[in-house]
Amino acid sequence: MTRADELAAALELVEARLGRACAAAGRTRAAVRLVAVTKTYPVTDIALLRDLGVADVGESRAEELVRKAEELGDGARRLTWHAVGQVQSRKAADVAAVADVVHSVDRVRLVGALEAGAERAQRAVRCLVQVSLDGDPARGGATPDEVPRVAAAVAEADHLELRGVMAVAPLGAPAGPAFARLAEVAAALRAEHPGAVEVSAGMSGDLEEAVAAGATLVRVGTALLGQRPPLLR
Ligand SMILES: *Cc1c(COP(=O)(O)O)cnc(C)c1O
Repeated sequence: MTRADELAAALELVEARLGRACAAAGRTRAAVRLVAVTKTYPVTDIALLRDLGVADVGESRAEELVRKAEELGDGARRLTWHAVGQVQSRKAADVAAVADVVHSVDRVRLVGALEAGAERAQRAVRCLVQVSLDGDPARGGATPDEVPRVAAAVAEADHLELRGVMAVAPLGAPAGPAFARLAEVAAALRAEHPGAVEVSAGMSGDLEEAVAAGATLVRVGTALLGQRPPLLR
């Protein structure tokens, strides 16, 4: 089997899961975007996924995002790039120069750094406020209490667009209740900011629960590309 066949087969399985999850939730498939999380995989895989119709690509590390977008050259412009991992403030300008959507905005200081980078690059960057659902600051995310303040900072920034929220399910706890809590946070945010319509939730292991809870973006790595070697930080 060629890598293209492998990716096509994996994509078909993920599409079948998404189709079933959307149907079960009474939602259309078009209401959920699939973001292929390609971290640790080569740009040749990104090009193959693009040829299979995947339009959204996610990376979790700033250096890798920048390098891959550069390596893909013109091909990169036909994709929507999502920064899904924690962003250090000193890398924020690099991320803002490349990412179309940053899913992991979790503190006011990062908002300032992203805005400076987006302004310098003369780009508009869509932002999601990452919500911590387990109170573990090491995994990133603003607590639900902090979300309004971070969101207000994004909304006030000229080159950033507040588009919604993102979360990663807590480790070792069922995803359903966590995603239901995220949906509550998302609804409260939307009441203040009507444009904040996106909910990024769900990965390879829990995309069904995320779709059931109203996710509009699912971030799928392993189920599409295969098991990653352990990440070296
Ligand atoms: C790696 C990663 C994913 C994809 O996870 P899989 O379990 O491989 O699907 C999704 N979201 C974030 C933030 C990630 O870092």
